[in-house]
Amino acid sequence: MTSTKEPSFRESVDLMFNRAASLMDLPPGLEQKIRVCNATYTVRFGVRLRGEIHTFTGYRSVHSEHMEPVKGGIRYALAVNQDEVEALAALMTYKCALVETPFGGSKGGLCIDPRKYEEHEMEQITRRFAYELAKRDLINPSQNVPAPDMGTGEREMAWMADQYARMNTTDINARACVTGKPLNAGGIAGRVEATGRGIQYALREFFRHPEDIAKAGMSGTLDGKRVVVQGLGNVGYHAAKFLAQEDGSRIVGIIEWDGALYNPDGIDVEAVRSWIVKHGGVKDYPDATHSANGSSVLEADCDILIPAALEGVINLDNADRIKAPLIIEAANGPVTAGADEVLRKKGTVIIPDMYANAGGVTVSYFEWVKNLSHIRFGRMQRRQEEARHELIVSELERLDRYLGDAWSMSPDFKAKYLKGADELELVRSGLDDTMRIAYQSMREVWHSRDDVEDLRTAAYIVAIDRVAKSYRAKGL
Ligand code: NAD
Repeated sequence: MTSTKEPSFRESVDLMFNRAASLMDLPPGLEQKIRVCNATYTVRFGVRLRGEIHTFTGYRSVHSEHMEPVKGGIRYALAVNQDEVEALAALMTYKCALVETPFGGSKGGLCIDPRKYEEHEMEQITRRFAYELAKRDLINPSQNVPAPDMGTGEREMAWMADQYARMNTTDINARACVTGKPLNAGGIAGRVEATGRGIQYALREFFRHPEDIAKAGMSGTLDGKRVVVQGLGNVGYHAAKFLAQEDGSRIVGIIEWDGALYNPDGIDVEAVRSWIVKHGGVKDYPDATHSANGSSVLEADCDILIPAALEGVINLDNADRIKAPLIIEAANGPVTAGADEVLRKKGTVIIPDMYANAGGVTVSYFEWVKNLSHIRFGRMQRRQEEARHELIVSELERLDRYLGDAWSMSPDFKAKYLKGADELELVRSGLDDTMRIAYQSMREVWHSRDDVEDLRTAAYIVAIDRVAKSYRAKGL
């Protein structure tokens, strides 16, 4: 994706790390220890499909074990390689530290084009990959817990969890070996939407701080803001849908693998999603202009740009033409280190990946806790909470009768107040809280230090400091 004059994805992550570390007072040995990737396992395995043996290459990289289990998604794409997996594992370490999920960082990948295989073939391949990882404890509820990433979802996670359970029949916590599972296989409500939901919560928190909005040269709220999103997959679709439906933002551009749609009056996200499901891409979608060169729409006039597909899409070739004053990195590593510098000089505000897309790992954490506790969130408290609310409501009803026409309860107050929180509401509440607190920890560094120009450096400083403290507590 990036031009040859730019560093690789992993080097880009290291450069960003170094920028932050140079502003910190870390013992030099510790700085190096945190930066390096602890181990990367490469596996090549064969699967008999359509009468012949196909060989696949997969990776699982463990960046830092300062906390265990280590956590990170598994990506299925043809472009998966060791450099990419290590970069993504490093980002997981910093992301988990920033949003205070008690995990080290890991990531996995399989070189495969999932579109080329039937469902039963994907199951065979995934089970074999999971077997190879599980037998080396690279899938394990207490040591290494994968999750979905590009090209994988609930289906793959369910196969992996089942494969692990077959290999570990007496492990009572087997379900906690991966997250992002379907609800009926030990998943949690709200995990599928979590990363996109996190993008929405991150933007809402950004727009609660007038000083930060001003730094991007903007004003107002999310209402009416023009948004361009790249990638209408799990993350991009949910982010765009929630921003349009619940915050009044206008989705003016959608970029997919087969080109981009643009309509200054707004695009119906749900309709485009259905179009993609039916036709495989965005081409020929009727209610917007299609351009075959999708990435040109990254440069369109808009308020908020949400790259939610691949790494390296904003690079030295196009950075100076990006018009959006605010970029929120829903994908991992969409802005290269070189482009980051160009944009910083231009005054573009970037809400960094390590924070912006942490909704996924946050809700994965809730799922893992749910699996270990073997009980759905809210199951014990919900009806008791409702019974207590009932007491107040009946008193208010008594007052209502007593006061006659002088006062009455708002029409939907009773129904809203009486309803105890279900798992989905609790998950959203926990996610919202996490996104707000993590943003505040970043912005405190951003605003309190003259030598910190941007949110990314601030995010790295917060994360590195926490990882360093963990290592020190272990006596390193
Ligand atoms: P996904 O596979 O569901 O969606 C990716 C989308 O990008 C697809 O619609 C695909 O068609 C599109 N795409 C592929 N190539 C493209 C191109 N060249 N131009 C434009 N669009 C293209 O993946 P996802 O889970 O939504 O992940 C997207 C990004 O978000 C990745 O960087 C991933 O690491 C990151 N992320 C995902 C999660 C999660 O919970 N799924 C969590 C954190 C970060």
